[in-house]
Amino acid sequence: MPKHNADIAAIFEEIADLLEIQGANPFRIRAYRNAARMLSELPQEVSQLLQQSMDLTELPGIGTDLAAKIKEIAESGHCSLLDRLHTELPPAIAELLKIPGLGPKRVKALYHDLDVQTVEQLYRAARDGRIRVLPGFGEKTENNILQAIEAHADPVRRFKLVVAAQYAEALEKFLAAIPGVTHVITAGSYRRMRETVGDLDILVTAAAADANQAVRQFTNYDEVADVLSAGITRASVVLNCGLQVDLRVVKAECYGAALHYFTGSKAHNIAIRHMAQQQGLKINEYGVFRDKTSIAGGTEASVYAAVGLAYIPPELRENCGEIAAAKTGRLPTLIERSDLRGDLHAHTQATDGHNSLREMALAGLSQGLEYLAITEHSRKLSFVHGLDTVRLLQQCDEIDQLNTELKGITLLKSIEVDILEDGNLDLPDSVLERLDMVVGAVHSGFNLSRAKQTERILRAMQHPHFTLLAHPTGRLIQRREPYDVDMLRIIREARKRGCFLELNAYPERLDLLDTQCRMAKEEGVLISINSDAHSIYDFANLRFGVGQARRGWLEKNDVLNTRSIQELRPLIQHTMSL
Ligand SMILES: [Zn+2]
Ligand SMILES: [Zn+2]
Repeated sequence: MPKHNADIAAIFEEIADLLEIQGANPFRIRAYRNAARMLSELPQEVSQLLQQSMDLTELPGIGTDLAAKIKEIAESGHCSLLDRLHTELPPAIAELLKIPGLGPKRVKALYHDLDVQTVEQLYRAARDGRIRVLPGFGEKTENNILQAIEAHADPVRRFKLVVAAQYAEALEKFLAAIPGVTHVITAGSYRRMRETVGDLDILVTAAAADANQAVRQFTNYDEVADVLSAGITRASVVLNCGLQVDLRVVKAECYGAALHYFTGSKAHNIAIRHMAQQQGLKINEYGVFRDKTSIAGGTEASVYAAVGLAYIPPELRENCGEIAAAKTGRLPTLIERSDLRGDLHAHTQATDGHNSLREMALAGLSQGLEYLAITEHSRKLSFVHGLDTVRLLQQCDEIDQLNTELKGITLLKSIEVDILEDGNLDLPDSVLERLDMVVGAVHSGFNLSRAKQTERILRAMQHPHFTLLAHPTGRLIQRREPYDVDMLRIIREARKRGCFLELNAYPERLDLLDTQCRMAKEEGVLISINSDAHSIYDFANLRFGVGQARRGWLEKNDVLNTRSIQELRPLIQHTMSL
């Protein structure tokens, strides 16, 4: 039964795939894909919004037709359109889309021209040399298909953090309600806030007498598709969505040791165990032992203390210097979500955002923000109605007016101006200088050489009004690799010019990368953790940006938007006085 946004998103993706194979209207296909992406990243569960009888057409990109389909899926578990598509196309054909290099267009051609419906048929067709003669395929593609199928040993699928969170949070709630269960926590890479998560490791504490009951309820959870193994205190299952979940039930006195053990990373744990050995201690998932006597393990802090270390936050546990820092009292005091006082990247319905200026301001206020920069796209992005000079100045007037009415939050006048391929900005100086700050971003020309891409961005940053480089690598998790760029040079230029880099908290971006955050910190360049909100819901994503910042060792002081607006103004105006 699809319950979570990601489940509904998966159904929409499959519909889009099948429609594309059928050669349906591209706009219709695009609508399903956009809705799928929006849903998979929507922080609030749609099922809850429906319970609050919210009108789903208020969600970005959702018209009455899609709203009805979401409702149908959430309530019945089925989508009649998908059921119908399954009767029109062979059931296994969507499997072909999972072969790297085969998009819907190619699958459609294979189906129509060679009647290929399954992976086996595809393999035979490739082996027999029947694919290379199809228009748009060729010998190289045929070889790639063969290799891809041969290498297709079911690679482990990883889930974006925001998607894993939907499943983890629902499961945690379910487990916490089981009688006898005291603590529930998801460990592993999820707890370390990795960008993607391969599986969930959930740890619960319960008395020995209650352990098996917890395991049995877990394996009966209504989203479980497959029970891989089940014992007295542990079980592994696969959920309907394909995510594997491992449960461990431990006694309270082992909680810290088990949590440390299952949080990882592997490299961190090996290093800690090695330290323990040198001190004549043994660490495992049950505790820290001297000979056979347990000397620690109830809390993680006790585990670290037993080997002479300060407590190391999960996001740092990658064996990348955190152990040495813990030994010498140099661990950072990592930034927290509550440290953020503003957000310097948001869109409204003037471009591709979904809400009005006022709605965005009030939503930001309700999330504890004291200021919010409105950063629409510029005219180059005509497909999202990017602003030209006239419309931007109009919006500035609206913001000035709104600021006289708003209490508790200030809107900043800004723009997400396109960095053109030659490094120029997409709007004239005469208008940029009238803004509170200028956010620059690359939205095209991702394939420039490293030298050209770096030069392009450096030139943009040398612009007198440039304030902040948005989503600095351009990557989209699992969809687009970062463009090739010399980030250290960009960071050093930012320091020289008094500019800043963004850590975009949009779950698909999480851009700047964690290692680059650390680089910026070492170079003394402040990072702005921004939502890039396109709707009032997106501010909730700031927590994922904070997670990434913590992985990058950032402290409150390393982050631009922890400043009050009074402290912020001179920082963002600095470049304007050049
Ligand atoms: Zn952008
Ligand atoms: Zn944006």
